[in-house]
Amino acid sequence: MGNETLLEDRRDFIFVKQEGCSGKGLRCDSNSVSGSVSQRACVYCGARVVLNPITDAVHIVHGPIGCASYTWDIRGSLSSGSDLYRNSFSTDLQEKDVIFGGEKRLEAALEEVIEKKHPRLIFVYATCIVGVIGDDVEAVCKRMAAKHKLRIIPVQSPGFSGNKATGYKLACDAIMELIAPHKAKKQLKQPGLNILGDFNLAGELWMVKNYLKQMEIPVIAGITGDSSYDTLLQAPVATLNVVQCAGSSTYLAKRMEEELGIPYIKVSFYGMEDTMNSLLRIAEELNNAEARKRAMFLVDRETRKLEEFLKVYRPRLKGKKAAIYVGGGFKAISLIRQFRSLGMETVLVGTQTGKKEEYEIITELVDETAVVLDDANPAELERFIKEKGAHILVGGVKERPLAYKLGLAFCDHNHERKHPLCGFDGVVNFTKEIDQSINHPVWSYLKEADL
Ligand code: SF4
Repeated sequence: MGNETLLEDRRDFIFVKQEGCSGKGLRCDSNSVSGSVSQRACVYCGARVVLNPITDAVHIVHGPIGCASYTWDIRGSLSSGSDLYRNSFSTDLQEKDVIFGGEKRLEAALEEVIEKKHPRLIFVYATCIVGVIGDDVEAVCKRMAAKHKLRIIPVQSPGFSGNKATGYKLACDAIMELIAPHKAKKQLKQPGLNILGDFNLAGELWMVKNYLKQMEIPVIAGITGDSSYDTLLQAPVATLNVVQCAGSSTYLAKRMEEELGIPYIKVSFYGMEDTMNSLLRIAEELNNAEARKRAMFLVDRETRKLEEFLKVYRPRLKGKKAAIYVGGGFKAISLIRQFRSLGMETVLVGTQTGKKEEYEIITELVDETAVVLDDANPAELERFIKEKGAHILVGGVKERPLAYKLGLAFCDHNHERKHPLCGFDGVVNFTKEIDQSINHPVWSYLKEADL
């Protein structure tokens, strides 16, 4: 791999499988290299995306209005109840507040939102400038919570205080803080599970719940997809936690195991293979032979339908090359398997917050010439996409313009999307989207010189 466009400090974060890794393996799960223009979101964004689907909570961004751009409808998360979470609340800090402090402004914002919206739960996110000026956000939240007799949970998430994964951890801590006064419920165990890290994008949690219903397995709480204050407080009674987005929720699952005695397993409902394995695994973990039988029936019925469907698409996609740049390692793993099932090759794969063990699986799954990288920037993605001749990039909102500028097909697999890609129905949507994007006639009008 030539290094002319790579920053020297980024060398350990990137490797080609056949050339192997230098040193102790791929460097990941660490802060971004300064000046590398990382594609990653900040600490506040990490915390916000996890907590956002608590639908009857008010989320207040304590900071300048710019931070609040990452707030209104940032997820395609759907709600079966309240839609309070879809509002955007910011303290809109100004220069004067930066000089004299923003605590009064936060207090006024809390008073106003409590009077107008009557929430039972409020999250207050401290952003970069609040970390710099040193507002005592915790004290304000405590005082206002006591005055109004409701839960106000501060999330100390200045963007510079770590990376997106730090924000995930803060969100998990906030959930545990919410549950803490109700921990005694762990004595009242009920058969059923919590689903962690499925954010009900386009109703995906409802699709998973439907599979579990067919297996006659009750779901106690979604954390945090279509969740509410009351459902979250029920979480301690569950007998199993299943973790869908491992990057954001494994830490929470570990805390719940230690403090509430709920064991956990990691699952993925992206792709036929992973959906099938996850449903069977849940039944096995619950030691429920009847549920396993029902899962087998469901899987058999759905995979037979899908095999018929895929017969049409595989010849259209065979041999095409995919580049993947997504948030977490578990999703990347599922995507590599999904592309393989379509006869496609993954030539580039990277994540924002992947862990060492996830990169090891990724490396096993990809071909010898594939590039694997962590915490990429646009220049690196552009270089390797071109070098590897990818036909499509799978990513999120920040990767879409890059793909189109390169004259490349694109598939949005991030939290902004409004269409479901999980479960068996998700395989149909995903395959159609990949086909429509890759085989769209528009690409034949582009010439090398135009790009
Ligand atoms: S918290 Fe900091 S890094 Fe994050 S959006 Fe606000 S200013 Fe930007």
